[in-house]
Amino acid sequence: MTSGKLEPDRFKYVRIVLSRAHRYRWYRGVSMSVSLLVLLVVVGGAHRALGRSVDLTHGLVAVGVAIAGFYVVTFLVNIPAGRMFCGFGCPVGQLSRFADTIDAFPKDAGRRRRGWLELLAFATVLALTCVLWWTSPGAFVSWPAAATAWSALALLAGYTVVHARVWRWGFCRKLCPIGLYYSVVQTSPLVGIDFDPARTCTDCGGCAAICPVHLDPRRLEDPIASPGGLAFSGFPAANHCLHCGACVEACEHLTRKAGGPPAMGFRRPHDRPRA
Ligand code: SF4
Ligand code: SF4
Repeated sequence: MTSGKLEPDRFKYVRIVLSRAHRYRWYRGVSMSVSLLVLLVVVGGAHRALGRSVDLTHGLVAVGVAIAGFYVVTFLVNIPAGRMFCGFGCPVGQLSRFADTIDAFPKDAGRRRRGWLELLAFATVLALTCVLWWTSPGAFVSWPAAATAWSALALLAGYTVVHARVWRWGFCRKLCPIGLYYSVVQTSPLVGIDFDPARTCTDCGGCAAICPVHLDPRRLEDPIASPGGLAFSGFPAANHCLHCGACVEACEHLTRKAGGPPAMGFRRPHDRPRA
């Protein structure tokens, strides 16, 4: 599993990219807000299905149908854009990103405090969206239901923080059932991570060092062995790529002084011979 203490090289590059604003963080702010809203509005609502109150069984069926719908919708997204949901829409990945921020600044108490606050706030909002699948907002202010509602919220938020700190990207690499499905269906996206050797590459290795799932972004066409867990062996590394853009961000920063367009980018991949 991924641990902050085990990846000092990676955190060096995380620190470098976080030292500057980047457009992907703005995009992700929007896409992550949409994800939380979908969880809250479409799936959530105190045992509601299609706006009507239902019993627990029908509530469970509604959640099951919503999850199946999610798989279909994200498959449609995967056809042109690959695993874009992993990189820009998944709240679990975002928890890991906040956890990374804490570990990237071991000597900066202010930055670490901010990282912890971001992680706790995001974990609480995410837990709240899930708790509201099963109880109404009113339960938080009416005794004795409030005791159960607040306990469930605290437990779930606590679990998500532990998940982010302990398992982090290891969950994406080895255990995520959605990632497993995507690694099979992700075939020839029109938009993906592309390394263009004709552009500027200083061979710094930063793109590989920062990759949260330990891929070499310059060789995403190569088949890779399973990292363990539920993941499959033998698919191209591109099938395991989260489309998080961290390698592109790193490359843009690291080639700035060298001049010329950075070699790593989000565009149509596989449109030229690989290095
Ligand atoms: S980060 Fe960019 S410059 Fe550095 S090795 Fe990767 S592609 Fe080359
Ligand atoms: S190859 Fe790049 S986009 Fe893909 S997971 Fe690694 S860092 Fe993210």
